[in-house]
Amino acid sequence: MQPPIAILAPMRVIRSRHVVTPAGIAPAAIHVRDGEIERVAAWDDVGGAGSELDDVDDLVIMPGVVDTHVHLNEPGRTEWEGFSTATSAAAVGGITTLVDMPLNSIPPTTSREGFAAKRGAARGQCSVDVGFWGGVVPGNAGELAGMVADGVRGFKCFLVDSGVAEFGWVDEDSLGPAMGILAPLRHVGGTRVPLLVHAEVIGPIDAVAASLRDANPRRYATYLASRPPEAEEQAIELATRLCRATGARTHIVHHSAASALGRLRDARIEGLPLSAETCPHYLHFVAERIPDGATPFKCAPPIRDAANREALWAALAEGVLELVASDHSPCSPNLKALEHGDFVAAWGGVSGLQLALSVVWTEAHARGHTLVDVVRWMCERPAALAGFTGKKGAIAAGHDADLVVFDPAALQTVTPEGIHHRHRVTPYAGERLRGKVIATYLRGTCVARDGVVVAGQLGELL
Ligand SMILES: [Zn+2]
Repeated sequence: MQPPIAILAPMRVIRSRHVVTPAGIAPAAIHVRDGEIERVAAWDDVGGAGSELDDVDDLVIMPGVVDTHVHLNEPGRTEWEGFSTATSAAAVGGITTLVDMPLNSIPPTTSREGFAAKRGAARGQCSVDVGFWGGVVPGNAGELAGMVADGVRGFKCFLVDSGVAEFGWVDEDSLGPAMGILAPLRHVGGTRVPLLVHAEVIGPIDAVAASLRDANPRRYATYLASRPPEAEEQAIELATRLCRATGARTHIVHHSAASALGRLRDARIEGLPLSAETCPHYLHFVAERIPDGATPFKCAPPIRDAANREALWAALAEGVLELVASDHSPCSPNLKALEHGDFVAAWGGVSGLQLALSVVWTEAHARGHTLVDVVRWMCERPAALAGFTGKKGAIAAGHDADLVVFDPAALQTVTPEGIHHRHRVTPYAGERLRGKVIATYLRGTCVARDGVVVAGQLGELL
């Protein structure tokens, strides 16, 4: 009998003069086999006979973006967004892994059954890899450990009305025990299971409500005043107390208020396992320039003033804010109350998944940052938060070959025709952005090129 012949999968080599690796930006040839990066070699090492070469010359190759804050809304509110449309937009925008939020879908991902329904809805529809957050809501403490065993990456909770009735919010008394359950839980590989906190509490919001009752709901200033920074400050104090008491890995999502950054810094100095993210819209837009009636800009917490934006940039540079995630949270256009421009009536959520990388690069470049910084904020650290370190978020041996070919000098104006989200309503319409995704590779296969999905449904559920 003949011995079995080992057949090695063909080698694919992708090379550039500017490859962003953990060591910096340098010429390199990335050797890919079976969807994985086998090694990162010298630029002129393009493998032996039979290996296929993609040479992108001077364009940048960076790791695919890992976006840990996306509302896919399917099943149940698929008319708002869905796996197929959002993951197409992600592929076009250079995002190769996204992690779905547990709310706005029906059922929400707050039980093992709800998680099974969510995975069932996602299966076969995804153009990029998708992971899932679960939710901590009143009464579901008994579900948490089982959901981790089933594969959720961590949990999100609200300290204030989430906007949807089926995803309740928790107070300090109910959140503490839930964090006690999460504190010892680990993913395969040892990453701690994080609790993600929507950090606004109701007290300061209720306190200003009466004074705004007669204010014009079309004015952005009215909406901004209705979500004061004190709501974020007090929420971070609460999250810090519980983090200290339980030892649970804690992460503040979509941080906006500059006045609360000192509390985040103090928690770091104290050595607590507490981190925070901010979003492209807080790093790009400023309240002074949001027109009255422009409800696509409504989100919670709100986009604040220019000085606030600069403080967020300083905190990102310092590391007090660790990462950037899109918080893509779209809805049907009618729910944005566009014709009346009513900020009170409109659904709160910014749609911007596909544009996140270019938005952040536009602002980062203007402040002297490099793509090494952007990769740290949008690839490495989000991958670590969701427990994907070693597989996602870096160009290094053993990682999935999730790569983005990026032209950092290209300028583009956002037009609705190029948007792949289910709906084209976005506050970024008409914005002039720097940097363009030329191609996106998922596990070594090109899935999007020049704004078009070229290979669909190759995404896996993580
Ligand atoms: Zn969100």
